[in-house]
Amino acid sequence: MPDAMVADSASTATSGGATQEVDVAVVGAGFAGLYLLHRLRKAGFTALVIEEAGDVGGTWYWNRYPGARCDIQTVDYSYTFDPELESAWKWSEKYATQPEILRYLGFVADRYDLRRDIRFHTRIKAATWDQAAERWQLTTDHGAAISCRHYIMATGCLSAPKPPEIEGVKDFKGEIYFTGRWPHHEVKLAGKRVAVIGTGSSGIQAIPLIAEQAAHLTVFQRTPNFALPAHNGPPLLDRVAALESDRAGYREQARWSMVGVPWPPASVVSWQLSDAERRERFEKAWAAGDLVHMLTQLWADQGVDVDGNALVAELIREKIRAAVKDPETAAALSPNDHPFGSKRPCLDTNYYATYNRPNVSHVNLRQEPITSITASGIKTGKRSFDVDVIVFATGFDAMTGAITAVHPITGRDGQSLSQVWANGPQSYLGLTVAGFPNLFMITGPGSPSVLSNMAVSIEQHVDWVVERLAAMRDAGFSTIEATAAAQAGWAQHMADCSTLTLHRLANTWYTGANVPGKAQGVMPYTGGVGPYRSICNEVVGRGMLGFRLTGANGAQQCNDGEVVRLQPDVRLVLNMLADMKLPPIESMGADGARAFVAQFNAGRPAGRLVGEIVDGSLPGADGPLPYRLYRPATPGPHPVVVYFHGGGWVLGDEQSDDPFCRDMCRRTGMIFVSVGYRHGPEHPFPAAAEDGYAAAKWIAEHAADLGGRPGPVMVAGWSAGGNIAAVTCQLARDRGGPAISGQLLVCPVTDCDLDRPSYRENAEGYFLTKSLMAWFWDMYCPPGDRTDPRASPLRGKLSGLPQAFVVTCEFDPLRDEGIAYAQALAAAGVPVEQFNARGQMHSSYTMVDVVITGVSGRVQMAEALRRFAGLTPESRSGDEGARPGSDGLAA
Ligand code: FAD
Ligand code: NAP
Repeated sequence: MPDAMVADSASTATSGGATQEVDVAVVGAGFAGLYLLHRLRKAGFTALVIEEAGDVGGTWYWNRYPGARCDIQTVDYSYTFDPELESAWKWSEKYATQPEILRYLGFVADRYDLRRDIRFHTRIKAATWDQAAERWQLTTDHGAAISCRHYIMATGCLSAPKPPEIEGVKDFKGEIYFTGRWPHHEVKLAGKRVAVIGTGSSGIQAIPLIAEQAAHLTVFQRTPNFALPAHNGPPLLDRVAALESDRAGYREQARWSMVGVPWPPASVVSWQLSDAERRERFEKAWAAGDLVHMLTQLWADQGVDVDGNALVAELIREKIRAAVKDPETAAALSPNDHPFGSKRPCLDTNYYATYNRPNVSHVNLRQEPITSITASGIKTGKRSFDVDVIVFATGFDAMTGAITAVHPITGRDGQSLSQVWANGPQSYLGLTVAGFPNLFMITGPGSPSVLSNMAVSIEQHVDWVVERLAAMRDAGFSTIEATAAAQAGWAQHMADCSTLTLHRLANTWYTGANVPGKAQGVMPYTGGVGPYRSICNEVVGRGMLGFRLTGANGAQQCNDGEVVRLQPDVRLVLNMLADMKLPPIESMGADGARAFVAQFNAGRPAGRLVGEIVDGSLPGADGPLPYRLYRPATPGPHPVVVYFHGGGWVLGDEQSDDPFCRDMCRRTGMIFVSVGYRHGPEHPFPAAAEDGYAAAKWIAEHAADLGGRPGPVMVAGWSAGGNIAAVTCQLARDRGGPAISGQLLVCPVTDCDLDRPSYRENAEGYFLTKSLMAWFWDMYCPPGDRTDPRASPLRGKLSGLPQAFVVTCEFDPLRDEGIAYAQALAAAGVPVEQFNARGQMHSSYTMVDVVITGVSGRVQMAEALRRFAGLTPESRSGDEGARPGSDGLAA
């Protein structure tokens, strides 16, 4: 590492000698370490903070480059643990400068008398767990070694600057500076030829100010970033007023929000807005000068859907083109290789306008990569640039760099953390690592950390850790360690979360892509600050789930398990429903339940556009039935799917699965005809079954009239609709038609036995409850008729039925009867595929655009239908728009 990178980390001597013994050693005296020390002391622990720098501040101690500021409004980027501290400090700006934030952290250190327990100018070099003593032994670069019961790494996510990886840095005869290790003395750039390498947040903040001083500035850009104007000034009055009118409420809202800033989530989706409406929202966000506003308030799909995101990205590129006079430079400054927000966007002051200055030039390293640094400057593939100063704004070995720089960290059984993390960081909750007892990380990889207002995330981690340590001590436990099962479960949950957002589509420091040779993968937790907090609380509420605690005389406690097995969005939906404390649907009576469902459906996202929707009527078993036809936008004639909605034979109608029908129509490129069959209790069994059969027959006979492809139809249904679809196939086989080429059964009711394991495991808490299902049966079918195959198709003859695709969900009372039906079909010689969806519940697939993780299942369903229709899945011709790089998530 060049000397410039360690500027001001030279040590002043501290005493060596005997090992210093404390309860807790904390590494780092930034936002996290300071608060830890305060809380640990209050909880009665002896604590020592070890800090490489010469004073407190962490990030704000090291990053003194021109223009350094926060990019979360300072009213939010502050400690909240002490209301008196909050009233004792007033920020002067919307986004405070580095010196002001550093002053604030110094003020905090003074107010709580923290410095007396901080050892500055000391670096922790290695750490070893001594199993016999149940203590960590820490070695330092000088001064006494440290022995502690608990070792907490508050070493920062962005504190280990990345080496520049460019040949010849040492040969350069001019001045070299790193934004992340900016010197304490004044850096004079006036009259000098300056080069800045790197256009991340640091470069983008520094470049306009360097341009004002330098004789000439050359910016070397590898990847352009999205930058938004900060519109800095005094703190925003409305924000301050909101905070001051209800400080506790404001802070609490931040803690439960998605990114740690109290904005409500956007509910409208992009395709529900006109171009003009979208532009109006965008201009408002642009004028607000707030990253979080732009990232979360435009439309709900911007962070999860490639198309919704592309709309924002293009509006920003328009702004860049308007700000930068030279079209070629504007094009080079316009990001095209990653979705907006998948890489940390920047907040700027005059960044783009700086390129209009005569003393600034821009070098696009994509066209002419740097080949070396020479004694006099920088060489690219095409040119040489003589400069006096090089500023490396090249970023950090983020999230793991400062942790693995302490090497080795040797845990239980001699394993080293660097080895354990060789293929990427593993953790439980981003707080601990299996095999490393009594080791904690504050905002470690696997926690929301850098995807949040870090002040909020730091306080949450510190509170959680200190409360756990105090509780352990009070209960007589001396060690705590995550279990391997809990950690593996967290890795799975992390992976599930990262399929939800677009972070996985960009090569960034979030994924380790900025450091050559680093293992790749989304490192921060993408499931949101509030959900994460609730998970940490749940771990405690469930008896320290996933932790093994040990104490004197062989005392042990271990509730092993995975804290989240639901898909993250399913968990959110279920928690939201639980918070609403709705009365059970079965307590509302049939009419009340129907009114409730209609109201519930009115609040869901509208389905996406299809080519045409036609409402009509067809003859049922005993009179006309309404239907709704969904036609793709592609030229027909299309294969036809007869669809039966869910609702327990009591609720819903031909329109109630509208988003699902639209989605499947788009994905399959097929006509869906959703049938409004009769319901119980007014029309009990077998009315719905007979209507289903009559409707399928009529639709098959009129396929061509409906614009469909003549010939066999397919049937599909969800829940009770799946029951009707299955029964229709049996009746069609037995009654001489219609010809059916395949059946798609989504979480179908196939049997009247309510005593299967899935009924017991998922009886409550997963939307469809056992008691609701029992009520549905009571409303629809008298007990004596329930074994009739028209009610319980599992009890019918299954040979000779059309090929089937049966979808079941892990957290569904109906799971096992769906599996049983698929197995019975296979045993009867029917070609069948069964897909058991991990982490999903009964309504996951029909909650389109709410349960985003349901997309991949619907893709499989669409592929099955296309196979049934004799089409290749690959040639899927729906108007959903395939997107390269997306895994189908974003349709
Ligand atoms: P740090 O502040 O990084 O402190 C870690 C400390 O640990 C450092 O002082 C380091 O010297 C010390 N240390 C590390 N390893 C060792 C060792 N082995 N021995 C001894 N000491 C060690 N986040 C936001 O939420 N909003 C923002 O606006 C924002 N702006 C930022 C601007 C910049 C320029 C940067 C780089 C980051 C920014 N961040 C922001 C992220 C920022 O890092 C966090 O908000 C927060 O300051 C982190 O605090 P921390 O205490 O966890 O870590
Ligand atoms: P960064 O976002 O990682 O940006 C580093 C820049 O250097 C990138 O443009 C990168 O290009 C370039 N680069 C790296 N190595 C290079 C090489 N060998 N040759 C050429 N170019 C190279 O780092 P950062 O700007 O320091 O910001 C890191 C994070 O810190 C931010 O995302 C943010 O979270 C935080 N931060 C916040 C603020 C704020 O406004 N409050 C300010 C600074 C930092 P590639 O993209 O091609 O790799």
